[in-house]
Formats: sequence, structure tokens, C-alpha cells
Amino acid sequence: MKFKKNQFLNVVSFVLNSSKSLVFAVFFQKLIVGLIPAFMVISISKFIDTVLSVFNNKLDIKNVYPALFSIIVLLFFSLLSEKIIYFANIKITNKLRINLSSLIFKKYASLEYKHLEAPETTDLILRCTMAPETNLMTTFENICNFFSLVLTVLSVVVIVLSYVWWVGILLIVFCIPLFRIALKSGKANYQANVEVTNYNKKYLYLSEVLTGRNSVEERYLFGFEELLNSKWKDNFEKARKILFITEFKWFAKMKSGSLIMSVIALITTLTALPAVYDGKISIGIFIAMVSTVYALVNRMALEFTTLVDNITKGLYYTSDLQEFLNLSEDEGAMVKPSAKPLQLEKIEFKDVSFKYPNTDKYVLKNFSLTIENGKHYAIVGINGAGKTTMVKLLTGLYKEFEGQILINQKNISEYTPAELKSLCSIAYQDFSRYETTLNKNIAIGNINKMIAENAEEDFNKAVELLELNELIDTLPQKSDTHLGKIKKDGVDLSGGQWQKIAIARLFNNPGALKILDEPTAALDPITESKLYEKFEKVFKGKTTLFISHRLGSTKLANVIFVINDGKVQEKGNHEELMNLNGTYSLLYKSQRSWYD
Ligand code: ADP
Repeated sequence: MKFKKNQFLNVVSFVLNSSKSLVFAVFFQKLIVGLIPAFMVISISKFIDTVLSVFNNKLDIKNVYPALFSIIVLLFFSLLSEKIIYFANIKITNKLRINLSSLIFKKYASLEYKHLEAPETTDLILRCTMAPETNLMTTFENICNFFSLVLTVLSVVVIVLSYVWWVGILLIVFCIPLFRIALKSGKANYQANVEVTNYNKKYLYLSEVLTGRNSVEERYLFGFEELLNSKWKDNFEKARKILFITEFKWFAKMKSGSLIMSVIALITTLTALPAVYDGKISIGIFIAMVSTVYALVNRMALEFTTLVDNITKGLYYTSDLQEFLNLSEDEGAMVKPSAKPLQLEKIEFKDVSFKYPNTDKYVLKNFSLTIENGKHYAIVGINGAGKTTMVKLLTGLYKEFEGQILINQKNISEYTPAELKSLCSIAYQDFSRYETTLNKNIAIGNINKMIAENAEEDFNKAVELLELNELIDTLPQKSDTHLGKIKKDGVDLSGGQWQKIAIARLFNNPGALKILDEPTAALDPITESKLYEKFEKVFKGKTTLFISHRLGSTKLANVIFVINDGKVQEKGNHEELMNLNGTYSLLYKSQRSWYD
């Protein structure tokens, strides 16, 4: 969707895109309802005047019926149409949900990777993705209600002007300060909302830890429930207080303003009393006018200010949504890996220096290394040394760096995203646990075959190599068993079993360079070391890159790179590095006890 400069038009066009006919129906219903008070003034004044004439025996009772009938029709219309429109609103909201969710999911998936890691944009994303359909629909409804109220005011003012002109003019004058306060209040409330995003993020995270499945065992064992609960309350209270204080301050301003206005409005209308004595206006008109003007000023105090306030908040939300939808995209983010994977001869990092966007510290500085086809490599270094960052650059997640990355002697930027994605097959440290069947958990590693429903053979191979048969035999629906707890009959696996599945997924992926980025970090050093040994065997003849901070796991590699201070500090096989008596040998000796 193309954004216009005016956020108001953006809300309308978003909502119109979901269902034109229903949206027009809602809009016209609001406009008609907006005219009802003016018709009411006419009907009620007619009714009172004819009733008075009937009492004075000037007219027959039959003359009351038309006015009475019109009052009933007006009341009936506003009640019934309100109910019908309620269902139209639900339908529009549902359609909006579908349209917006797919738009937001797509945008989220296409975003440049840096936005997903930067705190400013993650806050923006959080604000935009929380119930966008309700935000937009409520804003649209508020806009309709605003027009409806403006129409009410205008039509009543026209009628009042035609009876007692100065009362009409004063009514217009009263609206202006209320409108200004409401606008300011909307802005202040929005800013308060931005301020609380950070607290919201914290308490949403804490409630996930307090109620989520992932932390259930630790929650039980460590008994941190009370501590986190009080932290949750703390953050929730801070957010609530900021919002409450802002809302209260502006609410008080609006309320006191509107109270003064209603008193003035009442006094002004009473100045029309002499005109009744003079017979210039009828008693019916006077009563209908006074009660309507009073009700209208009250309504303005209650509704007008809240409406403008909410619309302002809603328009700020749309501007956030616009900012989110305008965030730069990575053209390759949604692309599938090429079905014909890129073959690997050589990868070279030449004097690569890199710092994360909006940071000053170089994570990699003059970083150089070479990876050749068919060999097994290991990258070791303490946590935070830059090992994962190197993989992020190699997979094209960050494109802005100094120096060169060459793949088969060609610059990385010359490859299409599909080609780049087809090069590496990775098991990440924070690998995903897909809550679907076991076979889909593995098949998803090769999306091209999965789509072509042609994954059977590779799947079986991966299962065999990772020795997953034993596990599959114990599952109620074998490899068709749902994993995780979303489904009633789903089976949850142990951490180690999930890890094996993540590695089977990597195996199933045809990428020439197999990367294990510490997916085993949660395992004990000996188990990890055994798994890496097995990995060595499984991928004999292939190019592998093991990343770990535990040296026992990586000593079988043909070449080990020791990363320190953003550079390759040492390079060689285990023996060579031990003989060097440098960082590697020191680290290895300090970790030796883990493996004894
Ligand atoms: P390793 O994999 O060796 O443990 P990483 O490559 O994950 O280390 O991180 C290297 C350094 O970069 C760390 O100091 C880490 O805090 C920092 N870092 C990682 N990701 C980001 C990011 N998105 N923004 C800023 N700094 C980051």
C-alpha cells in the first residue's frame, strides 16, 4: 500500500481496502445518527407545542401523532442501526486483521537484518505489531464518530441560529478551546505510550518467563517466581503510572474546561427566555433548545475531547506503522535458496573490519582467513570474540563492512541472495524448535524439496545418520508425531533430542558449507565433543566449520582458527597450535579438566 502524507487519509484507505461497501455503510450510519439531534429538536419542539395547544383546547389530540411518530422513528433508528453496524464493525475488523497481518508478516520477513537487532526499531516493531487491526479500526470509528458529532453540532447550531442567533454563535466559540485541549492531550498520551514501550517490553518478557513453557522447570526449581513477579509488578506499575498521570492531567484539564463551558452555555441559552415572553419563540422550541444545547455541551465534554484524543493517538500509531512499513528491506530476505546449490571452492575473508550499525567498537578488525573445499575447520575463541558475527557476514545478513569477502574468487556482493543462501547450511546456537511434525522439522531444512514433496530419501538419510530411529520408534505417530505442546497430542522432546533434530535439518540442507555454530552449547563438554566427533564422520569429504569456545570439541579439525580481539590470532591444527604455546595451548590446558 502507498502511504499518503496525511495519516488521516492513510487510516481511511487502510480500512477502505478491507471492505468498501461495509465501510461506507458504517460511515453513512454515523452521518445519519449525527443529524438525529437536530431532527429531535424540531420534533420535540413540535411535540411540546402541539401538546400545549391540545391542553388549551386549541387543537385535537390527533395533531400530536406526527411529532410523536417522528420521535419514535428517530429513537428506533439510532438504536437499531447501532446494533447492525456493530456486526459490520466486527466484519471489517476481521478483514483488516487478515490484510494487516499478512502485510506485517511479509514486511517483517523482508526487513534488512539490522532492524531486527537494533533497539530503536525493535521498539517500533513491537508498537506496530500489537493488535494493528484494533488500532486502525478504533481510529476509523473515532473519525466517523467525530464527523457525526461535528454534524450534530453544525445542524443543531443552524437550528439554534435560526431561532436565537447569539446562542448559536456562542456554541461555536465554546468548541474551539475544547478542541485545542483535546489535540494536545492526544499528543501527550501518545508520547506517554512511546515512553512506556520499554517497560511494556520488560513486563511482556517477564510474563513469558513467568508463564511460558520454556522456563517451567527452572521456575519450579529455582523458585524465582516471587522475585520475577515483583519485577513484573514493578515494570507494570511504572508503565501504568506514566499513562495514568498523563491521562489524568489532561482529563482534568478537559473536564474543568468543559464544566465551565456547560455553565456558560446554560446561562447563554437562558438569555433566550425574554424572547419566549415576547412570543418570538415558542415554549416548545425553548425547552428543546435548552435541553439539546446542554446535552450537546456535555457530550462535547465527554465525547469530543475523548474522540480527538483517541484519533490523535490513532494517527500517531499510523505514522509508526508507516515508519515500520518504510523500513529498508533486504531484497533477498524472502528469496528461497537456489535449487541448484552454489558449489564451493574457496572462501576468503581479506582484511575484513566490521562494527554493528550505530556502535563504535569494531567486532572484527582486519580479519582474514581462508576456507577450502573438502576440509574441516574450527573457529575457537572466548564468548563475544566475533565468531557468530563472521557467519552473519558470510551469509549476507550484514552487507556493510570494510575489506573483502570472496567466494570462489568472486566478491560476495556479486552473488544473488538465492545463491548465497544455498551455500551455507547452519545449525545455530539458538536453533528453532518448530511445533510441527518431526519429519517437517527436518524437511524444512531443504525447502525446495519440501515444496516438491520430494524429501523422503534425504529425510531417511538424515534420520539414519543422526540415529533418530530409536526416538521415532517411541513416538505415537512415528515421524508424523507433532512435537511441542501446541497440539493436544504433541510430544515434547528433551533438549538433546531437539538438538539432534536441528542437526538433522542441517544435514538435510544441501548447502556445501556445513556450519555448527555452537548448537550444542547447552550440552556438557564431553557430550558435545562426542557429537562433534560424530559430525566429523558424517561429513567426511565435505567442508565443515565448527564454532565453539570449547577446544576439546574442535581438535579434530584440519585447521583451527583462534579468534581474539576481532582477528585471527593463531592458525593451525591441534598439534601445531599446542606446540605454538600461545592462546590456544593456554586455553586448551585450562579446559583439559573438562574432558578428563
Ligand atoms: P561469539 O559468537 O564469538 O560469542 P558474537 O559474534 O556473537 O560473539 O559477538 C561479538 C560481539 O559483538 C559481542 O561483543 C557482542 O556483544 C556484539 N554484538 C553481537 N550482536 C550485536 C548487535 N546486533 N549489535 C551490537 N553488538 C552486537
